[in-house]
Amino acid sequence: MSLRDHLIARISSQGPITIADYMAEALLHPEHGYYTTRDPLGRAGDFTTAPEISQMFGELVGLSLAQSWLDQGAPAPFTLAELGPGRGTLMADILRATARVPGFHAAARITLVEASPALRATQRETLKAYDIQYADSADALPDAPLWLVANEFFDALPVRQFQRDGTGWRERNVGMRDGALCLGLSPVGPQTSLEQRLDDTENGQMVETCPAARPVLSAIAERLAAHGGAALIIDYGDWRSLGDTLQAVQDHNPVDPLADPGQADLTAHVDFEALCMAADPAAHSRVTPQGVFLERLGITARAQALAAKLDGPALDAHIAAHRRLTHPDEMGNLFKVLGLFPNHAAPPPGLER
Ligand code: SAH
Repeated sequence: MSLRDHLIARISSQGPITIADYMAEALLHPEHGYYTTRDPLGRAGDFTTAPEISQMFGELVGLSLAQSWLDQGAPAPFTLAELGPGRGTLMADILRATARVPGFHAAARITLVEASPALRATQRETLKAYDIQYADSADALPDAPLWLVANEFFDALPVRQFQRDGTGWRERNVGMRDGALCLGLSPVGPQTSLEQRLDDTENGQMVETCPAARPVLSAIAERLAAHGGAALIIDYGDWRSLGDTLQAVQDHNPVDPLADPGQADLTAHVDFEALCMAADPAAHSRVTPQGVFLERLGITARAQALAAKLDGPALDAHIAAHRRLTHPDEMGNLFKVLGLFPNHAAPPPGLER
């Protein structure tokens, strides 16, 4: 049975499902989910991410985390965690860049949170030189000092979509028409969690919520406040969600999110205001454009040092990668970095309170 058949059977018996339920099935269905069944990253895959574009991204993230660890007195042991590590490239670059930070590797307990068995296998291969552990969720991370990174993890968490109708909201859902999946709207009703959005939206506008994000943030924030540490959350999105941002990408091109469930990546913009509101009892940094964050950490000097060893097409690709990560017309502005840290500590380098 294909995922579409499974969804059609589910909708026939239960009625329309929310966009969040649809995303959860399409991405993580145990047999047919997009992430469960494949490695979607890189040139031959469906999309690419900052760590896959250039080693400089992971190197600078690693140095920011290691400096923050030193600034907080180098506690040992500590958890070095990543949420949604993809191919393991980011963690490999972090570990290579921090190999000479005295005591950092010896104290780090590397812990990955990854839902996909296919990607777990790839990560084990990429990181085979290291002792790595898995946790089933952020909630299952050790109760210990925590330095954590999550790049393009929150955009994969399922969102619910609500369209304003007067002073109420209609939830967007996935139903069926003539045997095919189609988008629909629930009857209008109140949504207490969206009451504050009546001030800044108009009839017909759409807002998104990401119920799965809050417990992840809380699990991280509790550990940071109790034991010290820092988290770097990097994703595309903005302050406060507005509009339909659900998108499906296949073979580096946008496609209809309902066309082929389980065969395309589905993401939504991250609502950084909601993440900041869930950061308590930790403190959070300003939401900082990725380009600004990487420039502050010295990406241009690092790019020049690497460029000195390159020529021809490799040099051209390196220059393009630097531009892609930092330029406001590419990833530099759309992608944002949010830091979490204990109230009494400084934000990790590259970020400000
Ligand atoms: N951080 C990587 C990969 C981003 S793709 C990079 O930057 O290249 C999203 C990653 O999150 C994948 O590894 C995917 O399998 C994982 N993922 C998505 N939803 C998840 C969930 N609910 N729990 C754990 N991992 C999840």
